[in-house]
Amino acid sequence: MDKPKVATASLAGCFGCHMSLLDIDDRILKLIQLVDFDKSPVDDIKKFTDRCAVGLIEGGCANEENVKVLQDFRRHCDLLIAIGECAIMGGLPAMRNGIPVQECLAEAYQKGPTVHNPSQQIPNDPELPLILDRVYPAHEVVKIDYQLPGCPPPADTLWEALVALLNGKPLHLPYELIKYD
Ligand code: SF4
Repeated sequence: MDKPKVATASLAGCFGCHMSLLDIDDRILKLIQLVDFDKSPVDDIKKFTDRCAVGLIEGGCANEENVKVLQDFRRHCDLLIAIGECAIMGGLPAMRNGIPVQECLAEAYQKGPTVHNPSQQIPNDPELPLILDRVYPAHEVVKIDYQLPGCPPPADTLWEALVALLNGKPLHLPYELIKYD
């Protein structure tokens, strides 16, 4: 019988949530007996090859490409799980939300104390995704089915949640597996 498929993405994240997933250590061997990974930085598959039972989303949406990837995940995944504070509420990247985008770009490319940019050009190649006016949590862009908090969520939290959902069981995480830092 075909195994259910899991896809993962890092949007405006730091890959720390993916590192936490790998922190399940030797249970990764059990995980690959339970599921096949589809589109994910874990296996470097760039496009969906099949419908997925679960999609794990790290990071919020900071640019237009993040939005397209998140919408693509919603289309291809039965359950979409926001993992980590960035996906759930924007996280630390959302600290820019109170600052106009032009000011952020000027600080990054023109006026910052470590910037060397004689032309004062702000990158504008059409290949670059446009930055959004603010960082949006995943649930403001698409419907999200579950949120697993933490920065990152502990490996045990990710493991317990994945195993329960893949087995069609309700998600009852014990108090000690819920953290927000
Ligand atoms: S929640 Fe924390 S660990 Fe996860 S992507 Fe955001 S900053 Fe990184």
